[in-house]
Amino acid sequence: LLRVRNLVKSFEGRRVLDDVSFDMMPGEVLGLVGESGSGKSTTARCVARLTEPDSGRVELGGRDVLAAGRGELRSLRREMQMVFQDPYSSLNPRMTVAQLLEEPLAVHGLEPDRRRRRERAAALLETVSMSAEHLDRYPRSFSGGQRQRIAIARALAVEPRLLICDEPISSLDVSVQAQVLNLLRDLRLRLNLSILFIAHDLAVVYYLCDRIAVMEQGRLAEIGTREQVYGAPEHPYTRSLLAAVP
Ligand code: ATP
Ligand code: MG
Repeated sequence: LLRVRNLVKSFEGRRVLDDVSFDMMPGEVLGLVGESGSGKSTTARCVARLTEPDSGRVELGGRDVLAAGRGELRSLRREMQMVFQDPYSSLNPRMTVAQLLEEPLAVHGLEPDRRRRRERAAALLETVSMSAEHLDRYPRSFSGGQRQRIAIARALAVEPRLLICDEPISSLDVSVQAQVLNLLRDLRLRLNLSILFIAHDLAVVYYLCDRIAVMEQGRLAEIGTREQVYGAPEHPYTRSLLAAVP
């Protein structure tokens, strides 16, 4: 599904990504962990081409993301949606939930009929275990966990093949974190969704992911199945991360 090769990115002369390569299979959930500043978000942003890497290659379903022109990029972006740490950043406070969920359907021409758009918005809310009664409320009137559910529903509206989640639960209360994690696990099974899941916490990644990639100072220190990485870490950095798990 996704092929990332030799990504290099520098900011102000400092190399932030240094030869990052990995693959994702369709339906796979890959966890990306590493210290703050190790380059996880930059990797995600380069994959979605929200940041232009200096060099390297990104292919989604065999299509070249970095060489794509505007129209092609639009269609590629539809196939890979992002969810961020702070659900506020992706939810316009002046739009109701219905508007937030209907907008991507309209923008991508997926549902020209207004009434059916609203029905689909209601169905999307149900997909993230929320009631359609919430359709006419504004984002600020929801809890953090609910807002993150709405952000996930909005990302799912365009039926992406790949969901890139950049620390989607880090800003949530611990009790709500598990709910959102369970939701993502559910969705992955129901929709055969591929997820690139970024986190600080190895335990969280272990719960959700098939494979785990560990970043250290802009490089992929290690990548393997969760059993490999958790059970028999090869890289000293991974061992130190594991030692930090309570
Ligand atoms: P965190 O866990 O804190 O989110 P991260 O692994 O996601 O960290 P990145 O956000 O990818 O790390 O940042 C990697 C490095 O690149 C950091 O040192 C950061 O300061 C730097 N960096 C990221 N974006 C920019 C930018 N737009 N301009 C300058 N430096 C940047
Ligand atoms: Mg980050």
